[in-house]
Amino acid sequence: MSKSRILKGTEGFEELATRVGLTPMEREARRASLERSYMPFQCTEHYMELIASLDEPYRTQVLNIVLPPPGLAPYQGRFDPYGNTTVGRDESPFLQHKYDTTLLVHFVDVCVSSCQFCYKVNEIRHEGWSAGQTHLKVAAALEYLDGHPQVNNVLFTGGDPAAVGSKVLVRSIRRLLQHPNVRVVRFATKTLAFDPLRFMDPELLDFFEEVQQMRGKQVVMINQFNHPAELSGASGEVLEALRRRGVQMRGQPAVVKGVNDDVDTLVDLQQRFLDHGVVSYYLTTFMPVRGVEQYGLTLDEVFLRVAAAKRRLSGLEKKGVLLASHDFGKFEIVGFAPRPEAPERIILKWHQAAMTKYLPQALLDRVPTRPEDVMILDYHPGTYCIDHLFRDNGLPHFDSGNQLHLASPLETVVPMPTPARVRAG
Ligand code: SF4
Repeated sequence: MSKSRILKGTEGFEELATRVGLTPMEREARRASLERSYMPFQCTEHYMELIASLDEPYRTQVLNIVLPPPGLAPYQGRFDPYGNTTVGRDESPFLQHKYDTTLLVHFVDVCVSSCQFCYKVNEIRHEGWSAGQTHLKVAAALEYLDGHPQVNNVLFTGGDPAAVGSKVLVRSIRRLLQHPNVRVVRFATKTLAFDPLRFMDPELLDFFEEVQQMRGKQVVMINQFNHPAELSGASGEVLEALRRRGVQMRGQPAVVKGVNDDVDTLVDLQQRFLDHGVVSYYLTTFMPVRGVEQYGLTLDEVFLRVAAAKRRLSGLEKKGVLLASHDFGKFEIVGFAPRPEAPERIILKWHQAAMTKYLPQALLDRVPTRPEDVMILDYHPGTYCIDHLFRDNGLPHFDSGNQLHLASPLETVVPMPTPARVRAG
């Protein structure tokens, strides 16, 4: 439940543009890039004031999170580049069991602001939510857990679960935690950046203290902080308050062009993680989201930026592993040969493969999927994502229409279900 007014649509865009001082030319360029994006504009007043308070380059970098920057698309992306719609079951698409021990619960479709590079653009509709609907989702999750004892943790996500009222939120997380198999609920949110004071609700703070008394149970907040400025001011103070109540924090920023690909910004972000007790565990590459492809960096570019930042960070600050996520799972980008500045081969290893039933046999026949195995593949300039890489190496991949190509000697195209919604909002 947002404590901050939410700006939406054309009126909201115009208010933000005026408050942050866009010139007429900048305003026009932003309007045009927003028009090409499939994510509706939405931003809290708190975040608008944060942007207005920043100096360059942070002002433009943070603005780029809620307004897509002008720029040409270097390729055509796709909807659902993580395979959420294929992993969701027909009768309960809000439950996704892609990795053996983790159940994802897509709790709500809403967020308090919209990140324009969000890979869930086709799922987030800003339709609102109802307590009854969330109650049924949790009930379905509990039933699923009963039948799948190998699942020991729940990724509680959306949208942003913090967008709902504390009573419903607390009741839902508590019910999940009380399931005997569940050791941890991962609470994924970006509200600490967009509307930090929402977390100063005594009902929520008391619940976090209650969790400390539950033996063998934990709630870990997975914060979608992308920029160091998001950990300043009120956000920093709220992070301290949550830490005092024993809440564990993790950070998993996507490295996105124009937002945090600058090495100084990446260094500052990871240093502020340490300052505020946020453990950096992933850095992810931008997924090839349709309509906002200008956010993309090639895999060698993002590797070089992260490597340059790591050279300036202490051991505790550079723990985050660089991953590229895909329908098939998560791949760690280990390095390039002969060297990243002149890449001819890429070295990948599975961070985690999706369960075998979600992997095409043509992939299982060609590459190992254990976390300890590495893949060394040919690398060509202009590789923005796993689909480009696998296409160039004759491996199964998806095209921009979300069709799976098996890339066998006589290539087979497997039709995938057309996404139910092609335009969010
Ligand atoms: S808060 Fe998360 S789910 Fe919502 S738009 Fe941003 S990245 Fe997507």
